[in-house]
Amino acid sequence: MSDTDTSAERAVVRDSVTVRVPAKVNVQLAVGAARPDGFHDLANVFLAVGLYDEVTVTPADELRVTCAGPDAHQVPLDATNLAARAAIALAARHGIEPRVHIHIDKDIPVAGGMAGGSADGAGALLACDALWSLGSSEAELLAICAELGSDVPFSLLGGAALGVGRGERLTPLDVGGTFHWVFAVADGGLSTPAVYGEFDRLTATADVPPPAADPALLTALRTGDATALAATLVNDLQPAALSLRPSLAATLTTGMSAGALAALVSGSGPTTAFLTKDAESAETIAEALVASGNCRTARATSAPAPGARVVS
Ligand code: ATP
Repeated sequence: MSDTDTSAERAVVRDSVTVRVPAKVNVQLAVGAARPDGFHDLANVFLAVGLYDEVTVTPADELRVTCAGPDAHQVPLDATNLAARAAIALAARHGIEPRVHIHIDKDIPVAGGMAGGSADGAGALLACDALWSLGSSEAELLAICAELGSDVPFSLLGGAALGVGRGERLTPLDVGGTFHWVFAVADGGLSTPAVYGEFDRLTATADVPPPAADPALLTALRTGDATALAATLVNDLQPAALSLRPSLAATLTTGMSAGALAALVSGSGPTTAFLTKDAESAETIAEALVASGNCRTARATSAPAPGARVVS
């Protein structure tokens, strides 16, 4: 190979790249009053959990998105898909065409408050970076993630992190153990903007304090103490999600009656999250939730999960 070869010619040419990327739960979601630009300042403690989408990218004549999985019919396959937007943004930054087939194997509930679309955006970004041998730094990828959406940077990093601003300015957090969770998947989604709109309506006459991370919750994460974490879980969007979907209250009650340490709506919902004392208890609670008929399905898993990773 001569000195004049381009880096693209020197690079290993790959037929396809698959990236695995996790869902998240917000163990604290503190929401400030609406700003003049309509966004809300947040103190958002993200925890990546072991439910994953897999994003596979393959060279193609033009950009194309396909999706498989139980919720696949709810996923847009056009350029609004966050995975497509990620490929377009990365290609534009490098002056190349996003000629790629993106296939999403979707296991994260759609419009469930678990950042499934954000996961696919982060996954497609990492996968295209590898397919096109661009060698972007994590900082470069995180900058594109932040342009794509508030939850996308965390999907790339995984683990646990505190997000401030719109949630996209992240500080990684230490987690001192494994936490066991059950997620009850509801029928149908809830629109995140609609839930924020309901939050604004419900808090219109209230004095909404500036959002701040709870030191007790950060200590519970750092020490791996599930009981202490259960006592501090909080989601300021929960009243708004319950107002739009009152049936979620019965799901929360069912999980608590079955032995959960704590229950809360995941992000903007309608997925509900149950912290449990161990893996066995998580399985028992998942079975009780399914048997109750209060949810479409229930999944037991653990956290923290790693962020987006190339798996093949
Ligand atoms: P968040 O927790 O970040 O608020 P969510 O988990 O509630 O998000 P998503 O699953 O990300 O919701 O889907 C929200 C909407 O985003 C969907 O209704 C869909 O129209 C759109 N969307 C765009 N790209 C994707 C994608 N790759 N997967 C799922 N939904 C997508």
